[in-house]
Amino acid sequence: MRTVTTVAGLRAACDQARAAGLSVGLVPTMGFLHDGHRSLMQAARRADDFVVVSIFVNPLQFGPQEDLAAYPRDLERDTAVAAAEGVSLLFVPSVAEMYPEPPRTTVHVAGLTEGLCGAARPTHFDGVTTVVAKLFSITGPCRAYFGRKDAQQLAVVTRMALDLDLPVEVVGCPLVREADGVAMSSRNAYLEPADRVAARVLSQALQAAAAAIEAGERDARSLRAGIERAVGAEHRVTLEYVEVRAAADLEPVDELRGPTLLALAARVGRARLIDNITVTFAADGEARIDLGIDAASVVAPGVASPKPLLSESESTCAAG
Ligand code: AMP
Repeated sequence: MRTVTTVAGLRAACDQARAAGLSVGLVPTMGFLHDGHRSLMQAARRADDFVVVSIFVNPLQFGPQEDLAAYPRDLERDTAVAAAEGVSLLFVPSVAEMYPEPPRTTVHVAGLTEGLCGAARPTHFDGVTTVVAKLFSITGPCRAYFGRKDAQQLAVVTRMALDLDLPVEVVGCPLVREADGVAMSSRNAYLEPADRVAARVLSQALQAAAAAIEAGERDARSLRAGIERAVGAEHRVTLEYVEVRAAADLEPVDELRGPTLLALAARVGRARLIDNITVTFAADGEARIDLGIDAASVVAPGVASPKPLLSESESTCAAG
């Protein structure tokens, strides 16, 4: 595995790979890699010949009061993780390399970025789409892998690629969970032990909602109320939002009929955590619920595919 730090270096390596007939897979990250990131690298390795992982803590997507300076970093360990996953190229640019000048051009995806995380983080998604557009432009034609952990981000980036005719196929991959159900996140590193335990209430509340849906509940308001009650009982956790949205366009829904996202964000100690599940319905009306996958199933490179946690969650990557 090679590490490059320049835009020109990444562009040349990807051009060279394609010229040699190789397909390129891109996994954008902010580093401090965990099994959620590893699952994206594995998905890229399964489908593509030349896998690029970018590690860049993008200042543009952090608000002024957010954790940019404190964001956890460990390039040495990240390099070992990427190498072990068979990554071809690590792209680790400096802020000055990505933004030699403050950008006057930004990318804004309307609608999809309002509400959910966009409500509390009004500049966040423009920062994400601007850096991802740059990464897509530098990498060139490729598949790009994003986790369904960040469901709104996946929807926004997918729409950006479509609207701008970017030569990139955006691929959504399952949300990866710790053994106790907590969604894996670099920000879990901020949690004190008691907060780490308390954080379980988020996935537990979503699992309870999933059970209610499987038992026939279709009313968005009562599902939200159930989650609010469950999370409200844990005094260490402050719910920021819980929303029930159409999976395709993220419009609010009153009743679950088509593909639906149940998403939440919460403050736990110093961390702001997000989690979600997605519900789809079979032709006979039976609910299929994607709860994500267990980290234990994110195995060594080339070994077995991930196993679903519960329900009939999709265990493989699907275009998102
Ligand atoms: P980040 O480093 O947090 O910006 O995340 C980089 C990529 O990894 C994004 O596409 C995230 O959605 C994805 N990701 C982060 N955590 C998880 C997780 N627990 N499961 C699946 N994908 C994840």
